[in-house]
Amino acid sequence: DNPKQAVDVAVLVSPGIGHTIPLFEFSKRLSVDHGLEVCFLVITTNEPSPAQDSLLRPEAGAVIPPNLHVVDLPPTDLSTIPEDTTLGDRISLLVKRSLESVRVVLLEPTSRPKALVIDIFCSEALEFGQELSIPVYTFFTTCAALLTFSLYLPTLDHEVEGEFTDMPGPIRVPGCRSYRPEDLLDPIPAPPVYTIGPVIKQAEGSEMLTPSNAESLTWLDRRPPESVLFITFGSGGTLTIEQLTELGWGLELSQQRFVWVVRAPTDVSGSGTFFKAGSTKSGPEEYLPEGFLERTRGLGVVVQSWAPQMAILGHSSTGAFISHCGWNSTLESLSCGVPLIAWPLYAEQRMNAAMLAEDIGVAIRPVTMDQGTGLVGRDEVERVVRMVMEGEEGKALRRRARDLKDSAEKALSCGGTSWETLATVCREWKSKDIYAAPNNKC
Ligand code: UDP
Repeated sequence: DNPKQAVDVAVLVSPGIGHTIPLFEFSKRLSVDHGLEVCFLVITTNEPSPAQDSLLRPEAGAVIPPNLHVVDLPPTDLSTIPEDTTLGDRISLLVKRSLESVRVVLLEPTSRPKALVIDIFCSEALEFGQELSIPVYTFFTTCAALLTFSLYLPTLDHEVEGEFTDMPGPIRVPGCRSYRPEDLLDPIPAPPVYTIGPVIKQAEGSEMLTPSNAESLTWLDRRPPESVLFITFGSGGTLTIEQLTELGWGLELSQQRFVWVVRAPTDVSGSGTFFKAGSTKSGPEEYLPEGFLERTRGLGVVVQSWAPQMAILGHSSTGAFISHCGWNSTLESLSCGVPLIAWPLYAEQRMNAAMLAEDIGVAIRPVTMDQGTGLVGRDEVERVVRMVMEGEEGKALRRRARDLKDSAEKALSCGGTSWETLATVCREWKSKDIYAAPNNKC
């Protein structure tokens, strides 16, 4: 007799809140909307992550459906990874060290899934597809344009001699037209792509808010519609002290209302607090321009480290968002109809920023003082903030953001394109019996 299968789908997420949020929301949809038993595998470290806890731990206020099972893999000690390891290498090391534990869970008869969904940074888990005869799907946490670009890379590799960065002109990648799989190059068997987005979290409920976060929402309640600028740089983005000072002065000069999530500055990298969001110890008064907090009292609110982003973006008083253009933040902003001031820091954020500003027309990009430092001066901050909050250009950006909000709602509603695509995949998974066909091909 076949052992009873308790799990339909296992979802493996890489470390970092920016990928955990969409994969967890996706898992909730599978379990709540489509009735699947989902096992959510979390790669853990010995560092606390309050932001992750509030998402995944019922004792920290997380609300988790009964058929979604969060499984913590044994933690990796972060101190065994050299300080100067890049973010990408750090993630891939943590994933590598957890692979054996993933295999153990997947082999367990009661947790052996019919399908495995992995985060893009967990591609080494693709091997489990062959080994365990289960189909493996990659959840692509960023935009379709980047997926197109990634799939096109092997073509470019053939066409370009030497490094891509040495090319004299722009790298031409066909835009958003669809590709027939048979037209793609031999080296990449094109996988089917399921467009199921935007996958974003719901606005934070009041029960999950810290007192200072609750205060910032009450403050927003008393401001006029679309009059407040929200500023935060993702789960771990940080600025240098010089940039933080210019941003502070620029905001003050603009005299626009704001809610600003401030983190301790660092010169190391733009993704300085990636693994430690929410755990900064020193207070904003130590690194903001002297007297800033007193002079802007009433005009704006400074929140330390972490704010309830979805609740703020969905608030009627919020008019624009200074964002690092991480893909979650981008989707969240546009799903709320809020235009952006694009301030990319690391990873694929510069590509997102260029697309939002130049192709879609929902963002404005400040001009940096020089290419070397990438510093945005206070006058430029004042200019773009005024432009988006008060100018005609801001109104046009807001109109386009609202159009996108409407299309997102339509796609996600029952019968919409994203809903239907996910329903089709779920029907396939539900109808599958892996024990009946042990040798099926991935
Ligand atoms: N976030 C939040 N409060 C903050 C900063 C970020 O709730 O003060 C959430 C935000 O809503 C988003 C995620 O953290 O869901 C950040 O993901 P994104 O892809 O934008 O950036 P990353 O953290 O991956 O750079």
